[in-house]
Amino acid sequence: MTREIEVLKREREERTAEATRLDEVVAAVGSQLKQHEEDFKGLTDMLASEESEAVKTREALLARKELHQGARKELTGRVRPEIMRIYQIVLNRRGTAVAECRDGICRGCYMATPPQLYNVMLRAEKLIQCPNCQRILLPPNLSR
Ligand SMILES: [Zn+2]
Repeated sequence: MTREIEVLKREREERTAEATRLDEVVAAVGSQLKQHEEDFKGLTDMLASEESEAVKTREALLARKELHQGARKELTGRVRPEIMRIYQIVLNRRGTAVAECRDGICRGCYMATPPQLYNVMLRAEKLIQCPNCQRILLPPNLSR
């Protein structure tokens, strides 16, 4: 009888210890969960803030794009069509259609231009294209 009571007492002590250990685990997990929720809220707030900034930046860029497109359209109307056609072909092929030519060197492809061509280009009387990359060459004083 006493032995059975001892066994039951020991089992009760073990269960109490296990319950205490489980209570500690539950408290630790609860604490971690709370920390994760705070971190998540912080990240959510940061994301919302960045998204708001991105929307503002996008709107500003779209406004600038519209402004530049208007200016481009106005300038395009002032350029002779045959020059615009050359410009567009070179732009499509090279990514840039115009290059400064300084000291006889095309700054688009860094190849030397023939001296006679360079002298004609410096007079800026007609459109001169680089013999190597076909970019429209501009004298240094006109390209800035
Ligand atoms: Zn060139």
